[in-house]
Amino acid sequence: MPKTNDPSLKSWVPVPADSDFPIQNLPFGIFKSNSGNPRLGVAIGEYILDLSALAKEGMFDQIPFDKNVFSLSTLNSFIALGKHTTNAVRERISELLNINNQEVQGNESLKSKALVKQSDAQMLMPVSVPNYTDFYSSREHATNVGMMFRDPANALLPNWLHLPVGYHGRASSIVVSGTPIHRPKGQTKTDAEAMPSFGPSKSLDFELELAFITGRATALGESITTAQAEDYIFGLVLFNDWSARDLQRWEYVPLGPFLAKNFGSSISPWVVTLEALEPFRAEGPVQEPEVLPYLKYSGKKNYEINLEVAIQTPNGVSKTVSHSNFKYMYWNMCQQLAHHTVNGCNISVGDMYASGTISGPTSDSYGSMLEITWGGKDPVQMPDGTERKFINDNDTVVMKGYAERDGVRVGFGECVGKILPSK
Ligand code: CA
Repeated sequence: MPKTNDPSLKSWVPVPADSDFPIQNLPFGIFKSNSGNPRLGVAIGEYILDLSALAKEGMFDQIPFDKNVFSLSTLNSFIALGKHTTNAVRERISELLNINNQEVQGNESLKSKALVKQSDAQMLMPVSVPNYTDFYSSREHATNVGMMFRDPANALLPNWLHLPVGYHGRASSIVVSGTPIHRPKGQTKTDAEAMPSFGPSKSLDFELELAFITGRATALGESITTAQAEDYIFGLVLFNDWSARDLQRWEYVPLGPFLAKNFGSSISPWVVTLEALEPFRAEGPVQEPEVLPYLKYSGKKNYEINLEVAIQTPNGVSKTVSHSNFKYMYWNMCQQLAHHTVNGCNISVGDMYASGTISGPTSDSYGSMLEITWGGKDPVQMPDGTERKFINDNDTVVMKGYAERDGVRVGFGECVGKILPSK
């Protein structure tokens, strides 16, 4: 286990007991405060450690790289330095924040420059996303959707147990937590209607997902094996794949999701590194039938990450509608990346690969309203007496995720998105 994950580590920066951001986490993000341009920071407790301010005082001089990467408006150039460098930076930050280290703690002027309260800062998109792919890797979710959209007796299509199904999504409409989303308009047609109609979606949904971000590019024609995949994965964010079910039902045949998905996806602003998640590895499910050799893997490639979704109504009441866990994924990230590149498809730094809706085995662990309300048949009762089949205008969906072990909680913060009426 890397020393940065040691549960006994403590920081001189106060970290509340329920914080997602202890010294063992150190997620990277892009922030902007009242003073200064967008720049790189690391979350610690209720603060952001300003990496550009530390670099200007020589705090990273022992690691050879261009320190200007800390003053850019995306993480792309930093993560492109490679894990050798980014992990050295992570270790150095852990050292600087350690309660026994005085380099920043004992330097009042530097401390006041380098620590920014999260409540005084705005978080921005952490990466520029060249490409976005969405997988469909939860067996429970694929089964539930197959039962509702197709044939309950044959819910999983024949390919599903043999390859991680996915589609190429839209990178341009991925937005950071806090960005409102307008209800999409589009074509819908139910079986009972003779002709399609046009208007605002009547069944707007969320999808609870995690997405990994790649930190290394490949050349066209190259493939990544399951054993190599972790070297290419920089970290993860929460991902809400907003979905208009009525548009989806009409448009998805035969080529899959399109306008039902590309009007917006929300992500959490802090990128939690694969290194921070190391203590939370878990066994994946047994894959039967046996997968083809290029999809085989060894070791623990799943991660135990608690996930939850809450709906906040316009009058301020909130209800948690799902508790799920990333460990339920049938196909793991290494298999997804190996499959994605097995044909020679090249990947870029900053690419985002979403897991697909993460549903667990029980109805309180389903990752979408489609499943929670079973297509609207069993609405969610809200504390204010209203009910939800899907998401109403001016509702806010809040996703959270954290892993916890040995008294250490490594979390993602929040992924928040409010739905505004159609434009
Ligand atoms: Ca999805």
